[in-house]
Amino acid sequence: MAGRSKGPRTVPLPSADQAAALLKRMRGEIDSNSNYRAKSLRIHGPVCAKCGREFDSANLNLLTVHHRDGNHHNNPPDGSNWENLCSHCHDDEHSRGVLGEYLSKTT
Ligand SMILES: [Zn+2]
Ligand SMILES: [Zn+2]
Repeated sequence: MAGRSKGPRTVPLPSADQAAALLKRMRGEIDSNSNYRAKSLRIHGPVCAKCGREFDSANLNLLTVHHRDGNHHNNPPDGSNWENLCSHCHDDEHSRGVLGEYLSKTT
């Protein structure tokens, strides 16, 4: 059968165009990130799942979405992988494992 492509794989440096496209893709990811936050808030309500603190539009930015399985790409539309946590409880949740380290590097 044909379709075998062998040979050295060269990795070209990204051109300005490609870099711009990459940037767009990254922005798109950020967009969908804030999108799941809005969804989670709608599903679970503006309340910290741990300490029960309630939030309103004035301090809603302190309420964050935690991924139960630690996988930020696992965003089922029913919200089963999300937990709304205030920044304090979220910190606490992540300080127990390696995830804490991971998060502090990415934020
Ligand atoms: Zn809390
Ligand atoms: Zn989290």
